[in-house]
Amino acid sequence: MIEAFTTPGRFWRGNLHCHSTRSDGDLAPERVCHFYASNGYDFICLTDHFVEKYGYPITDTTAYRHDGFTTLIGAELHVPDTALGEMWHILAVGLPAGFARPHAGETGPELAARAAAAGAFVAIPHPEWYTLTAEDALSLDAAHAIEVYNAICAHESGRGGGESHLDALLVAGRRLGAIAVDDSHRYRADALKGWVMVKAPENEPDALLAALRAGAFYASQGPAFEHVSLDETGLVLETSAVDKAYLVGPGSRYAGAHGAGMTRVRFALEKFRGTWCRAVIIDADGRKAWTNPLWLDRS
Ligand SMILES: [Zn+2]
Ligand SMILES: [Zn+2]
Repeated sequence: MIEAFTTPGRFWRGNLHCHSTRSDGDLAPERVCHFYASNGYDFICLTDHFVEKYGYPITDTTAYRHDGFTTLIGAELHVPDTALGEMWHILAVGLPAGFARPHAGETGPELAARAAAAGAFVAIPHPEWYTLTAEDALSLDAAHAIEVYNAICAHESGRGGGESHLDALLVAGRRLGAIAVDDSHRYRADALKGWVMVKAPENEPDALLAALRAGAFYASQGPAFEHVSLDETGLVLETSAVDKAYLVGPGSRYAGAHGAGMTRVRFALEKFRGTWCRAVIIDADGRKAWTNPLWLDRS
């Protein structure tokens, strides 16, 4: 959690999950980049479906980088089979162009580990949308993060969340972060709804990828964490105007604060000592932002 607020640099806004005409998206890669750049994003990662049907695309967006806008190279990886007999979905942000297609019999966890070993920031996409089992989620031990919000899944199925999956992994001792994404295909109601704010010295692919892998980011649908700090009395959240703020941990441990237009909230940490907590803020329109977990078990 704190990494995003202690490392040097500034926050860059990005969408880590979207699709183009190289797979099942409606816009050509160049237009996807233009769409996000013209809507104020600093970067995106185009993540077309890495499957035979589309020729295993790792869509090259380097030509669409320009002053003030950059791209990471990635894909959404698939192999059979989850516990429920469906294709795995594995988000890989920061893949080499020559990343090999899955080999026969390669499992989801093996594919995720191969992507991470190739340098990718690996995330578990839309766990609620396809009711990924806790065992399957736990088996992806290469994952750096999990989607706590996926805009197209929320819009089309009403199952765009992932916080309970995140908490199940944290309770099991897994250290991973929370991302919000669009997973945009249509670029209408499925876009501009969820993003990450990544803290990095510059808006360059290598710096962004290193920051993602280091956990220096938070996820949002709208609200902003301006600063998060620890002092002797607890955790201080400085935010854009929000009506609710929570600190949640394992089991029934939580703390909450309510008030119209709050911009500064302090939470005592005693009840989270020896374990983890994470902050969630909600604005007047019901939009959320999520920090990564703060681990207090080694302090
Ligand atoms: Zn997917
Ligand atoms: Zn997708």
